[in-house]
Amino acid sequence: MNLLRLTAMEALEMMGRGELSADELTGAFLDQIDRHDGDVAAYLYVNKTGAREAAAAAGGGDRPLNGIPTAIKDVLCTEGMLTTCGSRMLEGFVPVYTATCVSRLTEAGVVNLGKTNMDEFAMGSSTENSAFGPTRNPWDLDRVPGGSSGGSAAAVAAGEAMWALGSDTGGSIRQPASFCGVVGFKPTYGSVSRYGLVAFASSFDQVGPLTRSVGDAALMLQHLVGKDPRDTTSVAHPEQIVIPEDRDLSGLRIGVISELSGEGIDPGVREVFQKAVSTMADAGAQMETASIPHAEYCIPAYYILAPAEASANLARYDGVRFGLRAGGARDVIEMYEETRSLGFGDEVKRRIMLGTYALSSGYYDAYYGQAQKVRTLVVNDFDAAFREFDLLVSPTTPTTAFGLGERVDDPLTMYMSDICTVPANLAGLPAISIPVGLDGGMPVGMQIMGPAFSANRLLQAAHGAEAAVAFNRVSPLVEERD
Ligand code: GLN
Repeated sequence: MNLLRLTAMEALEMMGRGELSADELTGAFLDQIDRHDGDVAAYLYVNKTGAREAAAAAGGGDRPLNGIPTAIKDVLCTEGMLTTCGSRMLEGFVPVYTATCVSRLTEAGVVNLGKTNMDEFAMGSSTENSAFGPTRNPWDLDRVPGGSSGGSAAAVAAGEAMWALGSDTGGSIRQPASFCGVVGFKPTYGSVSRYGLVAFASSFDQVGPLTRSVGDAALMLQHLVGKDPRDTTSVAHPEQIVIPEDRDLSGLRIGVISELSGEGIDPGVREVFQKAVSTMADAGAQMETASIPHAEYCIPAYYILAPAEASANLARYDGVRFGLRAGGARDVIEMYEETRSLGFGDEVKRRIMLGTYALSSGYYDAYYGQAQKVRTLVVNDFDAAFREFDLLVSPTTPTTAFGLGERVDDPLTMYMSDICTVPANLAGLPAISIPVGLDGGMPVGMQIMGPAFSANRLLQAAHGAEAAVAFNRVSPLVEERD
């Protein structure tokens, strides 16, 4: 049996019936990492010994996520375990505490397989901004896995992890999930603790699951949500997360966002997406056209606001308290300058300059203030749309995974990869990407968005759509183990 095809829910059932041991399961994933991670490069650090020990200790235990092999994006602090955020700035940094979302999963029994590659400080859409080299897409090693959680998405798609944690500031869970043919869920802002998540843009950042199925996303989310006294922006999720069972889509009013599903979307992607929309209609959902009138301003607003917040958050890397310190400086100012010049990559520097400029006196109103107003307009657009619709859909990305190197010298084209995902971050809304087909052999994702704290409705509909569309392909790296 190909254990790499199992979902976490299936594995838990098998372990519960004594048909599979945690040891065997972790062994299969570590073996796949050995075989393929030299090419895929999903991991920055593989926790080989620790994972084997945890799996052995999991034994026949009865913790709810007992023995599930899990990958963790390297943006999340893990006590005693390297956490680099894909940056030279944090090369060799070993945190003294663990992110709440990671501790919650560990307490529930998961096995930590290691830390996954990412764009430096989560800035990027291809994982090519990692200081430690790019990750490759398991469906086609010449293409990017998306980003910034590209390592996590590739690990799940390559059978190098059963599921993974990612973070999403402007699409970094959903876009790589779409490129790699897996499920990615960004929760409502505030529903998952950001304690121990290295900050990029604090009013956007959310941690969430990358999984093989919608059911698994719900299962992991059950353990992630909740108020954390260590993160004052976290709130209790008003409803308990339920594992979706019902596959019925009838009665749901779903709006297809016209601004995000027409022009600007590759014809091949559009075709696969439209087919999924029709399939959902056949399954009983009422599919109609919806509008987010200010959608076209989302990317410009995001690329003012996120860099502005980043420029403030990244001021802490000064060579004094964290990671890298440049040697040979004559005074403290020179030490700051040299450390930051050496430690940060080009994209991070670009964001710091953009953000500092947008926040500077004289330009603050024209840029930052204006972008905040756009954010409010987008929030209002969604409010209006959700008065008419239960949920909204669009393609997750305008294209399938592009070639390695194709967009590195063209930041604006790179930024456009997030055109469909950024709106949900501006409005703080939950959104999921599920694979709905292939275009030219590469996965296409559908994004479903809901009102704040509607995770249950969203997961239920995504589960129904997943069943109706019945996309059952896995990457060639998993298929070859059948
Ligand atoms: N690609 C977007 C950016 O570079 C989103 C990143 C993210 O969600 N972390 O800002």
